[in-house]
Amino acid sequence: MFATLSDRLADTFKNLRGKGRLSEADIDATAREIRIALLEADVALPVVKEFVGAVKERARSEEVSGALNPAQQIIKIVHEELVTILGGETRRLRYAKSGPTVIMLAGLQGAGKTTLAAKLALWLKDQDKTPMLVAADLQRPNAVQQLQVNGERVGVPVFAPEPGNAQGVEHGGDPVDVARRSIEEAKRKLHDVVIIDTAGRLGVDAELMKQAADIRDAVQPDEVLFVVDAMIGQDAVTTAQAFLDGVGYDGVVLTKLDGDARGGAALSIRSITGKPVMFASSGEKMTDFDLFHPDRMASRILDMGDMLTLIEQAEKAFDSEQSLKAAEKLATKGGFTLEDFLQQMMQIRKLGSMTKIMGMLPGMGQFRDQLENFDEREIDRIQAIIQSMTPAERANPKIIDGSRRARIAAGSGRQVSDVNQLVDRFFEARKMMESMARGGGVPGMPGMPG
Ligand code: GDP
Repeated sequence: MFATLSDRLADTFKNLRGKGRLSEADIDATAREIRIALLEADVALPVVKEFVGAVKERARSEEVSGALNPAQQIIKIVHEELVTILGGETRRLRYAKSGPTVIMLAGLQGAGKTTLAAKLALWLKDQDKTPMLVAADLQRPNAVQQLQVNGERVGVPVFAPEPGNAQGVEHGGDPVDVARRSIEEAKRKLHDVVIIDTAGRLGVDAELMKQAADIRDAVQPDEVLFVVDAMIGQDAVTTAQAFLDGVGYDGVVLTKLDGDARGGAALSIRSITGKPVMFASSGEKMTDFDLFHPDRMASRILDMGDMLTLIEQAEKAFDSEQSLKAAEKLATKGGFTLEDFLQQMMQIRKLGSMTKIMGMLPGMGQFRDQLENFDEREIDRIQAIIQSMTPAERANPKIIDGSRRARIAAGSGRQVSDVNQLVDRFFEARKMMESMARGGGVPGMPGMPG
């Protein structure tokens, strides 16, 4: 997502580097390039016009800050304007003051609603909520079952019509009735959030809109969320407009942001519909989901990295006590073992793939090719080698002699040279880390004064 746009904008800014001040011609040329970049990213034309107009106007009129050179100044303006079109402030969920908060999902079939329902439920659980999922999509074969499977994956109960009733017998097949009864059930079972998954169609149609509107009227949701596949580009904006007219909603959820779409939907939808993007879904895993932060997204597009997200994710994934222990061990000579190394590596892994982690760091855009070619299996290989060692070997790698190395190589399906390389690298890294932990600076480098 956004890769082409990022590259394009980076090229544009590169042309400004080294300029002492921007002439009218520079500003015009830059505006033209930004316009092309946005159009290529499939951003809706009215949005492009407004965006470019704003950038141009500000580039001309704003005081040049002493701290920034002209290129930086333009980047700053573009960043701020991106934040604006992405919605400005992060829009958070509004919870009901009393009784369960009711969230209703609407969108086309295949948008990712059912998947998203479970992701949202898991996310709410992490916020100490006790959500319940409701299967009110009685149109698509297997939709109920799919929600049940997803509900099970995230450990959230699913309210669904009784099996055998899906054809309309005894209320079971009436989605409006299912939705209504689900609220009663939630109150009885003390669930504080109810997420209602509704039916979608392959295209926008009147009946679909009416059903969604009927459910909305019956349950009076606190939030209606429109779920849309970011990969469908300009169509996302058209569909968003149709749902706004037909059902109405409070916020948008963009799914499949991990895809190779050009990002136009994400950049256009807020301006066109006036509704904020509230959540972003970016993968098949249940945890590939988060609040949508316009400022972070803008930073990511401009390849300023997404340090905030990374830090937050790291905080979630890292076991701070364990990290503290590792740090203490590092301060003791020889205290850090291969076992600790393995534990640390597994913690980092919890953050996601290396490619994903590195992609969030600033300035990594230029390494995109290398990142894409990064072999995630390298980490599996290291893990396999360490796991083929005995606890004694992991605790005291010095005892790993030739015959042990041969055994470890055989056990992990690697070559002896791979084991040698890992052990050597471990000792080198430990020496360096110990020295740093003692405040001595990196070995072989002059110590810092003081
Ligand atoms: P629904 O018809 O709106 O309920 O859509 P589903 O939840 O069944 O999703 C449709 C397809 O999109 C499924 O194959 C999902 O696995 C996939 N999907 C959903 N969300 C994402 C996402 O964020 N990224 C990717 N890559 N695939 C997704």
